[in-house]
Amino acid sequence: MTGVFEHVRLICFDLDDTLWPCHPVIHAAEVECYAWLDRQAPRLTACYTPEQLREHRIALGHARPDIAHDLTEVRLRSLETLLAEHGYNVDLAHAASDVFRAARNRVTPYAEVIGALAELRPRYTLVSVTNGNSQIEHTPLRASFDHSLTAAEVGAAKPDPAIFQVASQRSGIPLDAFLHVGDDPLRDVQAARDLGLTTVWVNREANDWPDPLPRADLEVADINRLVERMIG
Ligand SMILES: [Mg+2]
Repeated sequence: MTGVFEHVRLICFDLDDTLWPCHPVIHAAEVECYAWLDRQAPRLTACYTPEQLREHRIALGHARPDIAHDLTEVRLRSLETLLAEHGYNVDLAHAASDVFRAARNRVTPYAEVIGALAELRPRYTLVSVTNGNSQIEHTPLRASFDHSLTAAEVGAAKPDPAIFQVASQRSGIPLDAFLHVGDDPLRDVQAARDLGLTTVWVNREANDWPDPLPRADLEVADINRLVERMIG
């Protein structure tokens, strides 16, 4: 380990599309939740396709910036509104949200992730920081981190700096000893750089870096490449 990484004591990781693929698990959770609604609230699903439910959630998120960072809350409020409009008990929204969340937690980490995190864990404090609504304690990575933070918990989504600042408070490690690892050039790399963190871009699909953003300090195709750099 040399140069720009020598000061690192804590590594924070984004989750979705950094440590597991996001789209397949969200899609499966949407399908499962809609099938549940179709059985429990057929008058609602007769009027709303899955895509129309999604559009309703997005519109609600735009109308309610106070809860937009909390995707579970947005889903809940959207469903409550629509269930009430169709003559159902709004309590069904909580049950539907539980169905979605259980399926949302059935993530499959990329093949190298659990082993790579286990190699880093003895030498670094590891923290997960996500804008998403997976519950780490119900995923295969439940034992991989020292701390896990969500946008919903800290009250703001990346690129807001709150989640990194809370990670520093929670761990007792200053931000200038952080390395942040993520797939999103703006919400991960730029957001972390703005706070003075050292940054790693996880680029699994060999995408082009979006110029003119300044590049991350390191670009890796997977977490094993990060392990090689950090502990050789
Ligand atoms: Mg991500």
